[in-house]
Amino acid sequence: MTGRLGGSVALVTGASSGIGGATGRALAAQGAVVALLARRADRLDELVKEIEAEGGRALAVPCDITDREAATAAVRRTVDTFGRLDIVVNNAGSMLLGEFAGAPAELSDRMVAINVNGLLNVSRAALPYLVAAAAAEDGRGVADLVNVSSVAGRKAVAGGAVYALTKYGVVGLSEGLRQELAGRRVRVTVVEPGAVQTELADHLAPEIRDRILTGMDYTPMDPGDVAEVIVFATTRGRNVAINELLVRPTGQLL
Ligand code: NDP
Repeated sequence: MTGRLGGSVALVTGASSGIGGATGRALAAQGAVVALLARRADRLDELVKEIEAEGGRALAVPCDITDREAATAAVRRTVDTFGRLDIVVNNAGSMLLGEFAGAPAELSDRMVAINVNGLLNVSRAALPYLVAAAAAEDGRGVADLVNVSSVAGRKAVAGGAVYALTKYGVVGLSEGLRQELAGRRVRVTVVEPGAVQTELADHLAPEIRDRILTGMDYTPMDPGDVAEVIVFATTRGRNVAINELLVRPTGQLL
């Protein structure tokens, strides 16, 4: 498949739904070969079929990114299959809202495990390949690490303290990595979406989900809106790095 990302290999975490699924589709539509990571293998298989039906190439890599060895093996499988890795989108995440006091420790442990340690596991395994792709003569002369944070990575709210902890962390990590990797031509982009219509809120306690949805007096974005932003960042010329993108639905205030 030809396109602005023809010849590039991308890996997207959390590709079984929402923003990750839309990003897998969108990168494939630009000609990238895509490795799709998440735990739900059936969803990934469906997306592979969809991408292939459009003339693209994709691989389902079922994986729990909180398991360091599994995350490392998933990155290695991608490179073994496609020979290189040019773009990584760290998108998998979990948002378990609710007041911190009195909440089970498992909720915050879970968010930290996925949003922080899972992201680190994938990044640690992938970075040597991104550096190699950026230096390769047959590549774009640049590689991309895209980390999906949130507006919650710029502004914390009551009931979202631990989620904010993880997403502020992603912003800080991204800036540190940006400085470490700039000389090696790996661009680091942090994307901070506002509300997007996905399965993210399905994992909330019903009373918390109802409270959030009742207070939402605007239309959330579609996952494809955020995917477009990620495509924008990853298709700039080699000397242009879009380091931070805050993107809200038009009507969202906070
Ligand atoms: P979804 O719930 O639709 O997607 C989350 C994805 O993460 C799923 O594909 C899920 O797949 C994957 N995932 C969860 N845990 C793991 C794990 N342990 N290992 C591998 N994959 C995992 O929500 P979104 O698309 O909304 O979320 C994507 C990102 O966007 C998250 O980081 C979220 O914090 C962020 N975000 C979302 C916003 C929104 O309003 N929706 C706003 C701001 C940021 P599976 O269950 O199959 O493993």
